[in-house]
Amino acid sequence: MTIIVWFRNDLRVHDHPALAEAVATGDVVVPVFIMNNRLLGGNHASSNRNRFLVECLKDLKVNLQKAGADLIIREGEPAHVLNELAIATEATAVYYTADYSPYAVTRDSAVQQELTQKNIEFTALPGRLAIDDINSIKTKSGTFHKVFTPFWRVWQTAERRKVVDTPQSIPFVKSIEPGSIPRFEDIAVAGDLSPEVLKGGETSARKRLEDWLANGIESYDLNHNDMAADATSHLSPYLHFGCLSVREIESMLPDNDGARAWHRQLAWREFYNYTLFHHPSNATKEFQERYRNLVWSQDPDDLKKWQDGLTGYPIVDAAMRQLRQTGWMHNRARLIVGSFLTKDLWLDWRLGEQYFMRMLLDGDEANNNGNWQWIASVGVDPAPVFRRLYNPASQAKNYDSTGAYIRRYVPELKNVPDQYLAEPHLMPPDIQKESGCVISVDYPAPMVDHKTARLAALEHFRSV
Ligand code: FAD
Repeated sequence: MTIIVWFRNDLRVHDHPALAEAVATGDVVVPVFIMNNRLLGGNHASSNRNRFLVECLKDLKVNLQKAGADLIIREGEPAHVLNELAIATEATAVYYTADYSPYAVTRDSAVQQELTQKNIEFTALPGRLAIDDINSIKTKSGTFHKVFTPFWRVWQTAERRKVVDTPQSIPFVKSIEPGSIPRFEDIAVAGDLSPEVLKGGETSARKRLEDWLANGIESYDLNHNDMAADATSHLSPYLHFGCLSVREIESMLPDNDGARAWHRQLAWREFYNYTLFHHPSNATKEFQERYRNLVWSQDPDDLKKWQDGLTGYPIVDAAMRQLRQTGWMHNRARLIVGSFLTKDLWLDWRLGEQYFMRMLLDGDEANNNGNWQWIASVGVDPAPVFRRLYNPASQAKNYDSTGAYIRRYVPELKNVPDQYLAEPHLMPPDIQKESGCVISVDYPAPMVDHKTARLAALEHFRSV
């Protein structure tokens, strides 16, 4: 029997149940990746991620070739492409890794319908999340969780599958035109490329993971909020593209407090996948119905200042420039800029969400949407609004205590004395001159007054 393995956001050969099952049960295996416009140029188009994708595909191709196979590249509407490929290779089945995003669910059920009509088996296997049946996680009364901590408690003890072996030899169809991976230049989105991005692909992912497990994870519980130390794994883009299997990672974790704290973060990823799967309307609307009546600002000038890192709040500006420069942002920084956009500027959280999707290498509909709703105080896992309304100056002092993070990304503040770094507009004029940072000339004055904005935001929430 010939089996097609349809790769999507599972771009790896290690612990890949669909690939392993195809190799175990098929006489011939046909790995394919399908490019299409929605993937490269839809609402979530991103140059950074398109470049990363090309690197992932190249690496996957090499890894498949090492096992005697190849990666077939095709372009077009998935059901049509898979049907044509099945005819060309005499395949009778398509195996793929189950995915939970609203887009993937709709796409896969349409593909299922078409292939079933043609008598082609279409089988989902696990591998995207640590738990095979994430929907088995329920409250005692049988409903789905809306609060993270109880979800996490059940998630920790839920059954896990065994990590599957990496196929050493893949029986491959010989006479087929492989097609070619597009050049990044042909799928770039104008003007959005970050100069200092991570390299995509399973090989880079595994190197980074190895290094993280050996050298970083142990102190994660102590250092993960220190923005200058940058002491988190940076594995998120690899997890988004499926270059790593969370289940395999779990099986490699050391037994220490750092690893336990880090494992909990992986559960957030599963929680947000679960949340969006059960509430697909969250993609466009506030989860909490009462907050759907909030009237958010859409001011393009305010949005541009935030995007460009020119708000006059150094910690916000450093974070937004880190995003533009590296296609990634520290989690604490994401929280600070999210709070600032929604509560200080009263801008629609969807505008922040969209910009993140454009720039982030790890831009992921479930994680991004879940976190934006969380910080905007409109989503699942609710808390009183004031708890997610941060004072940017205090956040800078607490989480960038040496100022190294701000100085790294906002060079015009390099010589500002430590005591003024979080609020440079408070510098007396002579110190502004001495430090080469005259406010409103070299660096902007704060675009809003935090205290006033805070009260206004609380009032907006109270009014609904
Ligand atoms: P680590 O601290 O090393 O954590 C390990 C892994 O756990 C991460 O790679 C990620 O897969 C997962 N994780 C950690 N924190 C979270 C979290 N809060 N929610 C979900 N998963 C988490 N993460 C994305 O992967 N894609 C996004 O589009 C995204 N958008 C975000 C938007 C906002 C406004 C906020 C506040 C957070 C967002 N996050 C997103 C979550 C988090 O910031 C990143 O996952 C994390 O910073 C990635 O860096 P890391 O791999 O070094 O994380």
